[in-house]
Amino acid sequence: MSKLMRAKSQEPSGDMPAEEFRRHGHQLIDWIADYFDQIEDLPVLSQIEPGELKAQLPAAPPEQGEPMQAILADVDRLIVPALTHWSHPSFFAYFATSTSAPGIFGELLSAAFDVKSMLWRTSPASTELEEVTLDWLRQMIGLDPGLSGFIYDTASVSSMHAIAAAREGVEMRIREDGMSGRKDLPLLRVYASDQAHSSIDKGIITLGLGQRSLRKIPADSEFKMKPGALAAAIEEDKRDGIVPFCVVATVGTTSTSSIDPVPAIAQICGQHKLWLHVDAAYAGSAAVVPEMHYLLDGCERADSLVLNPHKWLFTPFDCSVLYCRHLDLLRRAFSLVPEYLRTPEQEKVRSGSDYGVQLGRRFRALKLWMIIRYYGHEGLAARIREHCRLAQLFRSWVETAPQWEIMAPALLALVCFRASNTVAGENENDRAQRLDLLNEAIMHAVNASGKAFLSHTKLNNKLTLRLSIGNIRTTEKHVRQVWELLNQQFQKLAG
Ligand code: PLP
Repeated sequence: MSKLMRAKSQEPSGDMPAEEFRRHGHQLIDWIADYFDQIEDLPVLSQIEPGELKAQLPAAPPEQGEPMQAILADVDRLIVPALTHWSHPSFFAYFATSTSAPGIFGELLSAAFDVKSMLWRTSPASTELEEVTLDWLRQMIGLDPGLSGFIYDTASVSSMHAIAAAREGVEMRIREDGMSGRKDLPLLRVYASDQAHSSIDKGIITLGLGQRSLRKIPADSEFKMKPGALAAAIEEDKRDGIVPFCVVATVGTTSTSSIDPVPAIAQICGQHKLWLHVDAAYAGSAAVVPEMHYLLDGCERADSLVLNPHKWLFTPFDCSVLYCRHLDLLRRAFSLVPEYLRTPEQEKVRSGSDYGVQLGRRFRALKLWMIIRYYGHEGLAARIREHCRLAQLFRSWVETAPQWEIMAPALLALVCFRASNTVAGENENDRAQRLDLLNEAIMHAVNASGKAFLSHTKLNNKLTLRLSIGNIRTTEKHVRQVWELLNQQFQKLAG
């Protein structure tokens, strides 16, 4: 690098002059460091009204270029207030996630290299680093070496690719002949629990299978798929001439982080020769903690598994890893090499574009590689362990407070809970309605304060608050603060 720096070009290029780039680059890194230093002073949830930013932006592009200083000033003045700060330590909504310093450096370099990782030769570094980094990650989470990975943008896209590979395996010439207008094609079936993420539905829709192809299997009282119900559904479908081909199990469901019984599901898939895809987009990362390898029990029998480093591995969005046991099928589903992409080495190398819809792919492995190297396996495990400890601490406060209740087992770093006081003389129905409204009001009040951000779900038809811990900056102080806020709002709104 120092050699590169010394070899300064005197030729003007169309881009920003090197000295200016250096100056603004340093300023920008300082700006980001200050942003993280002061992020707690900013409201977590953006306080702007819909349309407010748009109204402040010129409707037409500038005719002449503007100085970087003016552009950066507008980032401060206009963009920051319109941000919901995912990196704020009191962001507890959805699945809390965060970027990290080595991840930001990885993104910066990736933008500088700007490779389109489509063929090995257009991006040897990206192609080979991806393979090695994903093998490191595989080892850290204790998955067997039969699974090798690719990085896609999101779990939605990873799962869609997994289902496409599974469909390729049914040998019904769908790649060649499609699905429409075919009298010879039976209904193909995918199974997932009623707690599965909507990305599975979307994958089914995108692949042209149709929503009726997805059969939702009921979950038990702990929100885990019922294997008996799965087995019965498959038997029934087969009797009706439907062709089952794929089961999606979830390790860490979105509403409650419940873990489907993968060993039992894998057994059923084995009996019926069905593709088992595991959606471990959220909880898969927790398996980097050695004592939590059990989360992926049964996944040694999975055909594919998705895990999102951009959820709980401190990787800036986007980075979703799909591990697959049958790369031949994934390749068969997507590989298409026109003359202009043919290379002499193509039989010897792995090219990303053969394994998915996209031709060009971002150099996402770089940031993940830098994160794994900077924190090390132990550092990553320690951070995730601490998040789980904080969530369990919060759970213990909820459990011992009479006006609050736990709504689902809190196994990892997500707590589902709600205010649940009683009012004298109230019947069941009135209480149910009042509690839904009360919890919603508490959540909105906490979020409007700008001091913390929570989201909700419905469990057993009851509005439930979710506190998710996954941000690298979150400490016990922040968890105590949100607990105080919740209690203050409860006093105010229920009193
Ligand atoms: N699967 C699960 C279990 C999730 O919780 C989510 C999102 O929260 C997804 C899939 C979709 O993730 P992505 O935004 O990467 O598509």
